[in-house]
Amino acid sequence: MAPSGENVVVSSQNLEKLLSMKGGKGEASYANNCQAQAQHARSMLHLLEETLDRVHLDSVVAGRAFAVADLGCSSGTNTIHNVEAIIKYMAKRFEAVGRELPEFSAFFSDLPSNDFNTLFQLLPPLAGDSMEELLAANGHRSYFAAAVPGSFYRRLFPARSVDVFYSAFSLHWLSQVPDAVLDKRSTAYNKGRVFIHGANESTVSAYKKQFQIDLAAFLRSRSTEMRRGGTMFLTCLGRTCVDPTDQGGAGLLFGTHFQDAWDDLVQEGLIASEKRDNFNIPVYAPSLQDFKEVVEADGSFAINKLEVFRGGSPLVVSLPDDATEIGRAMANSCRAVSGVLVDAHIGDRLSEELFSRVASRAASQANELLEQLQFFHIVASLSFA
Ligand code: SAH
Repeated sequence: MAPSGENVVVSSQNLEKLLSMKGGKGEASYANNCQAQAQHARSMLHLLEETLDRVHLDSVVAGRAFAVADLGCSSGTNTIHNVEAIIKYMAKRFEAVGRELPEFSAFFSDLPSNDFNTLFQLLPPLAGDSMEELLAANGHRSYFAAAVPGSFYRRLFPARSVDVFYSAFSLHWLSQVPDAVLDKRSTAYNKGRVFIHGANESTVSAYKKQFQIDLAAFLRSRSTEMRRGGTMFLTCLGRTCVDPTDQGGAGLLFGTHFQDAWDDLVQEGLIASEKRDNFNIPVYAPSLQDFKEVVEADGSFAINKLEVFRGGSPLVVSLPDDATEIGRAMANSCRAVSGVLVDAHIGDRLSEELFSRVASRAASQANELLEQLQFFHIVASLSFA
């Protein structure tokens, strides 16, 4: 459980212990607010399949399981669908060349606070004994499942043990808010803001540096863990603008109504301004160039594909004319991903206040929001250089 209302300093150790999407199956849970990510993943399926076409089947030795890992799997059904899509596609590839099917194992990996229990409850049952039976059974699982708790910015798996790494909508989460951003004496202190959207240059460059350090650490670990002949498909929030102070969709999500709602709490005397200033969303939406530089500097991976993909809106609403519903969808989207951090920083009661203000502020500008809130994603397909 996250401590409630304490002033949590978001060092990397703390963030690792604390961060998760909202668990359970309630209104603001991630499981209930991940339809947009599901749609975005579906629209990228062809890119995922192109990546899977690069797996060298020859390097999959008979008698050992084919291992797929989803990093930053969270607790909804998305990870189950994605892992299933990967395994079905790989099975087809083995069949197409007349190879005997290997057994498949799937590793669901996320930080330890992730609601793995909900995820396990959503997993379909394992069917049959032979691989053919497993793959034929609809509504059943054709792979052995295991959870791997830990940060993907460090080692998670034994060396050369994973054939396909998949990670969706996770790598924009930094390992920590950079120390300087929380240091009042630093020029990078993010006074008055809870995100880097529109922040000053030093704040933004501290975030960018953190992103570079983190992605480099991610790649280093994966380069040890990936099997020869394996591949990696990564997608995360990205931006189209060169200037990182414009964080695109992430900027709108955390830099407008969410920011204003924090300011409301300060103006109404519910929290001190410093309390707000000490809260920062540890997210950085990289540009293509940001991403590319890190992959190239690491040097372990060849870039098969790297592009910015238009993802659409994170707001999935049934009544696009209903401002209240749009406001609530915005607050829920925001809360599903940042609620755990907000609860830890100001406690559950004030967090409730904050997100109800996000909802009403967003409702008052519902049309603009629907028009403007667009996510772009970086999509990367990597194999060993
Ligand atoms: N892949 C899922 C969930 C994305 S939400 C989907 O497609 O719907 C982002 C996930 O990344 C969260 O569950 C969060 O806990 C996880 N995450 C963030 N930082 C992480 C880290 N350092 N290590 C592992 N997981 C992390």
